Amino acid sequence: MATYIVLLGPPGVGKGTQAKILAEKTGLVHVSSGDLFRENIKNLTELGKLAKSFMDKGELVPDDVTIAMIKDRLARPDCEAGAILDGFPRTPAQANALKKMLASINGDVNVVPFITAEPATLIERVSGRWTCRAQGHIYHQKFNPPKVAGKCDIDGSELYQRDDDKAETVARRINVYLEQTSPLVDYYRTQRKLVEIDGTQPIEKVTVALLSAIKN
Ligand code: AMP
Repeated sequence: MATYIVLLGPPGVGKGTQAKILAEKTGLVHVSSGDLFRENIKNLTELGKLAKSFMDKGELVPDDVTIAMIKDRLARPDCEAGAILDGFPRTPAQANALKKMLASINGDVNVVPFITAEPATLIERVSGRWTCRAQGHIYHQKFNPPKVAGKCDIDGSELYQRDDDKAETVARRINVYLEQTSPLVDYYRTQRKLVEIDGTQPIEKVTVALLSAIKN
């Protein structure tokens, strides 16, 4: 039976960082909707152009486009054993679409770790965030600095600051999260899939909590 893990939590709480660690430790594929959009932007695709117009404002990309992109990604052979979903679903319509998608292959969301932190912490995290150009590895100038400034420890590529990590856009993204994504907390809690994790702990402690949530 395949395993599907949905990482839930506000922007900047550490979902991407943790998803990459979990993927290494569990062997499951990391599927990040934000990374998929950024890849499309880099490759100048039509989807990338459309996504960028929403991302730059801190808004969500429309559900139909996002759902189609994820459906396509989860159908690839490397997702046969399941996936760690990071940044998807982000609306009730996306959660319903995911349920249908997985039901059609006799799967379901197994566990939903909900990583939490206060808005002030999120803004500090996001505004100090540096992302690697080649593969999206994530650093923070204070909490998780690279060994050499401006260079990814893992693949040596250049680190850059995401356009949507600017303070004004981050505030908008947090509001969008509260309005559109936070209803998913109750949705998954009702299904007894939610496991709350304090995202203000050090990276290693959050990983331990996540691994324990997944095992149970
Ligand atoms: P992230 O990398 O998860 O912070 O996502 C960056 C941006 O990509 C978001 O602010 C949205 O504009 C867009 N995005 C990512 N995932 C989704 C999603 N599931 N639904 C709609 N928009 C998304």
